[in-house]
Amino acid sequence: MLGLYGNYDVVVCGGGTSGVTAAVASARTGAKTLLIERVGQLGGQMNFSGPPGFSFAHLFNGRQEQIIAGFAEETHKRLLDEGHALPHMLVEHRSHYTFSYVDPDWWGLLVYKICREEGVELMLHSLVTEVIREGDVVKGVICEHPGGRSAVLAKVVIDCTGEGEVCYQAGAECETAPIQILEPSTVAFTADGVDWDKVVTYIHEHIDDFIFNQIYNPYSKWTDEKIRQRVMEIDDILEIGEVMGYLGFKKRATWTGEWHNKSGVGFFLMPKEGRILAHFQHSSQEDLCDCSQVRGITQVEVECRRQNMMAWRFFKKYVPGFENAYITRTCPEARIRETRRVMGDYVLKFEDIRDARKFDDVIGKSAFPTGAKHAVNGRALALEHMAVPKDMGSNDIPYRVLVVKGLENILVAGKAVSADRASHQRFLQQTIVTGQAAGVAAALCARDGITPRQLEENVSELQEILISQGAILYGTH
Ligand SMILES: Cc1cc2nc3c(=O)[nH]c(=O)nc-3n(C[C@H](O)[C@H](O)[C@H](O)COP(=O)(O)OP(=O)(O)OC[C@H]3O[C@@H](n4cnc5c(N)ncnc54)[C@H](O)[C@@H]3O)c2cc1C
Repeated sequence: MLGLYGNYDVVVCGGGTSGVTAAVASARTGAKTLLIERVGQLGGQMNFSGPPGFSFAHLFNGRQEQIIAGFAEETHKRLLDEGHALPHMLVEHRSHYTFSYVDPDWWGLLVYKICREEGVELMLHSLVTEVIREGDVVKGVICEHPGGRSAVLAKVVIDCTGEGEVCYQAGAECETAPIQILEPSTVAFTADGVDWDKVVTYIHEHIDDFIFNQIYNPYSKWTDEKIRQRVMEIDDILEIGEVMGYLGFKKRATWTGEWHNKSGVGFFLMPKEGRILAHFQHSSQEDLCDCSQVRGITQVEVECRRQNMMAWRFFKKYVPGFENAYITRTCPEARIRETRRVMGDYVLKFEDIRDARKFDDVIGKSAFPTGAKHAVNGRALALEHMAVPKDMGSNDIPYRVLVVKGLENILVAGKAVSADRASHQRFLQQTIVTGQAAGVAAALCARDGITPRQLEENVSELQEILISQGAILYGTH
């Protein structure tokens, strides 16, 4: 039987980075806010199916100007004060690939505290399965959860499910790349007990066997050779950030059948409680799967675990420093890189990012390159159609990418926002930027009795509130 769970100003569906941020921003703007999440843990790919290799990256542009703050900076600062984050790292040899490490597990704990502080109501273990619509107007959602099914009514719904699931159910126009080129998905795992001195020594002695993010060189114009020279001087593995290569071992193990050759060999560095863990998020990758469909996601879950076992045996057998290492965590579910993008009133384009375009309805910024795509060919990244924002700057993200085309009273935030394939806004910092803006916008619409589309006519209050909540909209390249 279908009961009425409640009636809210703003209902946020999905409690990943975008959803948590949207719910907090909405509540801070004065709206009665409900956050619905499928599992018991908030944080999504940040810490539940994560952690990511780097959280957060690119809060700074190539000129080392901070371009993203808001909820990302606030949580980084709070965790830094408590010893669960490291100061922003802006080292130039990583081609301005800046890292602002936060401990994902602590981020996942902190956000419950913030939700409590701000009066965000939580509805956990609840799967949004249907959208309540009157014509093109969204009125709420239906959830399945322990105890049955409920209707939840809302003045504005925000879809933060990552895959645009709610918009899709509401009939929104969505784009998905052909399955042959969809980015692969991954089950990540983390290991401790690594002898980092040995790892660094091996890198120094076999420098040509490694790849150091040279694809991002347009940011700094450093040559591969210069980066290698710099890496030769580094003793602290954290400064390298990501270890990718072991090309000699990989070649041998691929030949003997000890490496699956679905991805490159490597790992990210994850600082934690004064230690450094190795985080493997490229050791399994399954392609030709559409993870918005049950058959696709099931295949990924099974195949990635097979690849991970193979990868771990490889590391233990071949890689100096891993002799006594052990796995501390395998992610409970696959992480999905790419499925739907929901089409909005504006579609963010490759040229907008390449040209570092500015928009009147700016709600935040991004300095992440366009077009970097994972491919299942052993290289990890496909570089076609790639560009960094010009002059080492950043592009604006316009409000209209959140406003779902053809529907009223619904916004999308997080990795499914309206963009062409090259401009997919899937990185954590981008999901926080769009989440914060969607939360404030939804709350304003609920307060004023207008639709998100009507808000497009005048976004000045939205922008003022975002700035008062710490977001950066102006004053940088
Ligand atoms: C292997 C991998 C590595 C990555 N590494 C990095 C990295 O190092 N740095 C980086 O910045 N980014 C990285 N990313 C990208 C980034 O982690 C994600 O794109 C980002 O976390 C997505 O945030 P989101 O809020 O849009 O969605 P998610 O974090 O996916 O959150 C969606 C939430 O919605 C919930 N949900 C889904 N459907 C429903 C429903 N019907 N009802 C209720 N709840 C629902 C889910 O349970 C989840 O909690 C990586 C991605 C992958 C796949």
